[in-house]
Amino acid sequence: MEDLSLGKPQPAITDLTRPFWTGAKQGRLMLQKCRRCATFNFHPKPWCIECGSRELAWTEARPTGTVYSHTVSRSVAMNHPAWQAELPVMLCLIDLDDGARMYGQLTGCAPQALRIGLRVEAWFEAISDEAGIPKFRPLRGVED
Ligand SMILES: [Zn+2]
Repeated sequence: MEDLSLGKPQPAITDLTRPFWTGAKQGRLMLQKCRRCATFNFHPKPWCIECGSRELAWTEARPTGTVYSHTVSRSVAMNHPAWQAELPVMLCLIDLDDGARMYGQLTGCAPQALRIGLRVEAWFEAISDEAGIPKFRPLRGVED
């Protein structure tokens, strides 16, 4: 039986992904940027998704973007009871203004106001002493 009092599962932080999580703890959206072609990469990888270069530098990306796609979970959230209190959960693919496409949870928005093309900005939730996680909210007031 799963203990419902437990918190949310923590991400498995590795040497490869640590700057993303510790950056978010400090309120910064840190992504790998290719030194050869300037592409921002998400999620963290040993090589550039565009040109294959291994010369990647952790770089602070602008925390703004546009909803590319989305889904709303109204009954089951990530198969873990710790998320049940947040239902409905809005999960999005975000096209960041700096180019990477990343997934994230949208908050501060009614599900009926969620749409493709919605302008959003990242905010950062601390999830441990070491790590934070970027979430997103509408860049301007919700139009509902
Ligand atoms: Zn590249």
